[in-house]
Parts: sequence; structure tokens; C-alpha cells
Amino acid sequence: IVKIIDLRKSFGHLEILKSVNLEVRRGQVVCVLGRSGSGKSTMLRCINHLERPTSGAVIVNGEVVGYRVKGDKLHELRPNEIARQRAQTGMVFQSYNLFPHLTVMENLMEAPCRVLGRPPAETREEAQRLLNSVGLSDKADAYPSTLSGGQQQRVAIARALVMKPSIMLFDEPTSALDPELVGEVLEVMKSLARSGMTMIIVTHEIGFARQVADEVVFMADGCVAEQGPPSQVIDNPQVEATQIFLRSMT
Ligand code: ATP
Ligand code: MG
Repeated sequence: IVKIIDLRKSFGHLEILKSVNLEVRRGQVVCVLGRSGSGKSTMLRCINHLERPTSGAVIVNGEVVGYRVKGDKLHELRPNEIARQRAQTGMVFQSYNLFPHLTVMENLMEAPCRVLGRPPAETREEAQRLLNSVGLSDKADAYPSTLSGGQQQRVAIARALVMKPSIMLFDEPTSALDPELVGEVLEVMKSLARSGMTMIIVTHEIGFARQVADEVVFMADGCVAEQGPPSQVIDNPQVEATQIFLRSMT
């Protein structure tokens, strides 16, 4: 469902992604680990074209992300086409980025109704169903500022899901939360994983990764340094960089 081919990204003359190759199959949960600055966020942002690759390509659902292929040339898509593609990938960030002046329900309705032109009544029903599923059935009319960080992050997850994405991307979704609020967000993500959602999750929660990941990717220095099931990458890493990283985490 996602294929990353020889993806490179430089900022100025700084090469951040040196050659990333990664394949994610439908229904798979992939957790991405790596130290700060290894390029995890940059890779995730290339998957929905928030960053433009310097070279290489990302394929999502059989389409090159951000480009149309004409002969052997790539032409960048227009903003409305990029928006349509981006609707296939739900993204959840460390900071929840909810609209502060909108209620929870309005936050959920905004993108599907405005960007995709979905009918409001139907969308509202779907949004309420999703709020129930993240444990916030009674918060539809609340404003984000009245919610805890964990609740806001669960709203952000519901808001991404209401677009009916085929893949969910998470960039350290629990890093900004107080420790006692991390669990409720991880629980929502676990149940999403069990429901069969395809997920790519950048996280420092090693225990969570061990539990839910089908595949763990360890990034170092702009490359995938090691990749495999948690039983390998987390519990029996073969690559020295992974071993050093994991030792530093415990
Ligand atoms: P962290 O764990 O801290 O989130 P990360 O693995 O997500 O780290 P990235 O955010 O992908 O790392 O950043 C990798 C490097 O790219 C960093 O050195 C960062 O300073 C640099 N970088 C990221 N975005 C930009 C940008 N827009 N312009 C210039 N440099 C950038
Ligand atoms: Mg990051």
C-alpha cells in the first residue's frame, strides 16, 4: 500500500534522508524508531508530500505521491490534486493542531465537508461514531482548550479518521503528553491497529512498539539501519547502532 523507493531529501546541502527504502503492506503496523535528527519526521512528511523529495519516490495506493508520471518525467500535481491524495493519509502530530475556535464536532466536520464536499448530516453521524470509539462520546460540543492533552490527541485521531484514510501516519503522538495521559492515547492506537488499519508510527514508546508493530524500522543517519519484527529489532538487534540506541532508552 506504501512503497518508498530510494527516497532522498536534502535541506540546502545537508542530506537528511540518504536513501530510504521501505514497503508497508495493507493492514501492517510499522513502528519507526531512531534518535533525534535521524530523519523520521522528514520521511513521514514525504509520504503525504508535506516535504518534496529531493529524489526518489513514494507510492501510495499505486500512485506516485505529489507527481504525475508522463513518459519518464514527473510533473508536480496541482494543490487541489495534492489535497485529494493527502486525504488518503491521515496524519497525527505531536502537537494536536486542533482549531481552537471550533468545537470538537466542528473540528471533525471541517475537512470532510469543506475539502471533500461530503454531506454534513452523514459526516456528523460518522464523526460521532468515531468520537464514541475514542472514548469521547460526550465531548462533541466542547472546545479543545477545555480538554486534557490526551483527550485533544484522541480528537486529533478521530479527526484524521473521519476522512476515511487508507493509512494513518503518527509522528510521536504521545511525546507532548503528561505521562499519565500517554496510556489512553496508546490504547486508542492499539484498537485502531486491531481493526486492521495500516499505520506508520514514529514513537519512542518501545513497549508499545513491541506490542503492536508487525515490523520495526530503526533509522540512523538518514537510512533504514535495521528492519524486522519486534522480536528481532527490539529484543535481539543485529546492528550496532540499534543496540546503542536501545541501551540509551532503558
Ligand atoms: P526527532 O526525533 O527530534 O523528531 P527526527 O528523526 O524526526 O528527529 P527530522 O525532524 O526528520 O528528525 O529532522 C532531521 C534533520 O533535518 C534535523 O537535523 C533537522 O534539523 C533537519 N530539518 C528538518 N526539517 C528541516 C527544514 N525544513 N529545513 C532545514 N532543516 C530541516
Ligand atoms: Mg521528528
